[in-house]
Amino acid sequence: MSDLVDVTILGSGCAGNTAAIYTARANLNPLVLEGHEPGGQLSITTEVENFPGFPEGIQGPLLVQSMKAQAERFGATYKAGRVARAELSQKPITLELEDGETVRTRTLIIATGASARWLNLPHEQMLIGRGVSSCATCDGFFFRGKKMMVIGGGDSAMEEANFLSRFGSEVAVVHRSDNFRASKIMLDRARNNPKIQFLTNTVVEDVYDVTKGEVTGVKLRNVKTHEVYDREVSGFFVAIGHIPNTKPFASQLDLDPDGYIVSHGGARTNITGVFHAGDVQDRTYRQAITAAGAGCMAAIEVERHLEAEGH
Ligand code: NDP
Repeated sequence: MSDLVDVTILGSGCAGNTAAIYTARANLNPLVLEGHEPGGQLSITTEVENFPGFPEGIQGPLLVQSMKAQAERFGATYKAGRVARAELSQKPITLELEDGETVRTRTLIIATGASARWLNLPHEQMLIGRGVSSCATCDGFFFRGKKMMVIGGGDSAMEEANFLSRFGSEVAVVHRSDNFRASKIMLDRARNNPKIQFLTNTVVEDVYDVTKGEVTGVKLRNVKTHEVYDREVSGFFVAIGHIPNTKPFASQLDLDPDGYIVSHGGARTNITGVFHAGDVQDRTYRQAITAAGAGCMAAIEVERHLEAEGH
């Protein structure tokens, strides 16, 4: 059993790191549990062009590493680990980690973010790491000179397609309609890229070849013409959004139907002493800078809460 800590932060993306900087500077010695993807979504992105203060842009991993270094400078402790079970209503809050360790904490900031959504194709999961991926930055390099495909019509899909075009012989963007959620600037950039083709009004029926143990092609269906056809591809990148990481808290926190934390004003959840920050609650803005802002808000609320409780 660990010592009682003032504040534990779950997640080490922009929200968690910013909460760590603020609570560390308030002398609260925050414990940050880094989660399954240390650094969060920025750790698997490339250039971030819209984070204020970096006129030439900054690499996503560098941005989060710098935030972490800043928090550590003021006394934040980072620890690898994920919560398996949590008892949020009793005080102190008790967290049981996947490795069996228990953390007791006066307050909790949940900044666990959101994870990649998959298409749930028959052979998708068994081919992850063998041609199926949700991270172009991580895996694009493996498909040099090969044919690749990106699924989705949002900014993530456009960003991944542009990135992959550096490596592949061609990149096909497959989108289920011809309405794109992607911002105009990102969509235009992909459209103007000679290596990128668009297959709109098209869905993926399956990805194969299972017998060879690596992706060799996909079965596609045009939803307007109903034509079903195969296409050769080696790299299959899914970029269709994210699912909030709230599973360990599902029976205790107010969640919306998609699993996002419902805010009870500011950074507050329905449970006293438990706060939210970043994409785990925000399904609207989902930007690095808004997640950082949310981390700051949660940290300030923690400070005020602890002060009001006399700690
Ligand atoms: P979005 O929710 O914006 O887009 C998801 C896309 O996937 C949509 O085109 C959606 O289609 C499609 N989709 C969802 N489910 C399925 C399915 N089951 N089968 C087929 N297609 C599906 O997610 P993103 O990850 O693209 O972006 C999330 C947020 O992050 C946005 O706010 C975006 O602006 C931001 N972002 C910003 C970047 C930047 O500025 N550099 C880079 C990447 C993301 P449909 O529209 O039909 O529902």
